[in-house]
Amino acid sequence: MRPAVLRVPEILRSLESYYGTQEPCWPTDPYLFLVWWHCGYPASDSACAKGWEALKRDVGVEPRQLLEASAAKLASALKPGGMVPELRAMRLLEIAARVQNEFGGDLRAGLAGPMAEVRKALKKFPNIADPGADRIVLFGGMAPVPAVPSNCPHVLVRIQRGQERENYGVTYREAQQAIEAETPASFDARTRAFLLLKRHGQGLCKRTNPRCAECPVNSACAFFAHRHRGRSPA
Ligand code: SF4
Repeated sequence: MRPAVLRVPEILRSLESYYGTQEPCWPTDPYLFLVWWHCGYPASDSACAKGWEALKRDVGVEPRQLLEASAAKLASALKPGGMVPELRAMRLLEIAARVQNEFGGDLRAGLAGPMAEVRKALKKFPNIADPGADRIVLFGGMAPVPAVPSNCPHVLVRIQRGQERENYGVTYREAQQAIEAETPASFDARTRAFLLLKRHGQGLCKRTNPRCAECPVNSACAFFAHRHRGRSPA
């Protein structure tokens, strides 16, 4: 008989017991998040944190401070964050100019109105697609949307359905639907889900070579059951 599907609240409880309570390690203000996101490449928490600290120290992060700095100085400050600092410097200048010119220097205050319009405005910023817009809207306290970490939408889909889809957008939507249907529409519940799924996707449930034998939910994971049917956990 097929085992029952593990519901999102039970998954989150197990992950929280294993990893502990999670907190965001990035600025949750929408504008500051956009800056932080471009401080590292490839974008990871640690790369972005390195570039962010250097940028704060050498230039500052407010729109006016970025616009007053030369592209060369910005690129130099962004170097600790990894690759293509020159390109990331240009992106930061673009972000700062838009926030200054179109939002009067205060992006958070300017993101008012219907959520569809807010998302449209956010997606005009470089490197912000649906997952980025969802994350900004949720952590920025604008709406408790079911945001899913952009680099690990596969976690929930694997546990509940087995193998994730080849199409990233389909996997993202399936994860989003599960969170929407099975968690309360509150900021606390949705940020908790995001952070725990992110932690698990970056820790054990990596996109390639997940470490299933160590996983706290392996006994009820459809992916694991399918892979290891008839075998002992490896
Ligand atoms: S058992 Fe494996 S695939 Fe399933 S959640 Fe854990 S690490 Fe991911």
